[in-house]
Amino acid sequence: MRRPLSAGSIIETRCTRCRALMNHTIVAMVGEKVVRVECNTCHSMHNYHPVKTEKETVTTRTAQKKAATPRTPKADPVAVAAAEWEALQPGWDAAQAIPYDMERKYRVNNLLLHSLFGLGIVQLVLPNKIDVLFHEGKKRLRCG
Ligand SMILES: [Zn+2]
Repeated sequence: MRRPLSAGSIIETRCTRCRALMNHTIVAMVGEKVVRVECNTCHSMHNYHPVKTEKETVTTRTAQKKAATPRTPKADPVAVAAAEWEALQPGWDAAQAIPYDMERKYRVNNLLLHSLFGLGIVQLVLPNKIDVLFHEGKKRLRCG
């Protein structure tokens, strides 16, 4: 969809003074060709030099560039948890670990000893639930 350009239309082109792609107002046209433009930024008038890209005709509404969704490699949550656990573990005193018990209440940073998952640290306390970081990953356990 290409809107016909006319004098007074806004066109995006390279400004010879700003040395950047700027919005320009068309000053003169020959037929369908833009010949002279005025930079909306520095207000210098110069001949229109078409930009190489096909999408150089930009009216007041700037073409919306659709940003491609960045493909960030998803980190393996288990590996992340293991690394976090290993980083924290040297600071723990295993003797202080509280054996996991559904009836108990826990607080953030409580060291916990689970019969299945081993040592873990309470990272989040929710109503009747806790999130515990174990070597094999984060687990949500019932408590309280
Ligand atoms: Zn300019």
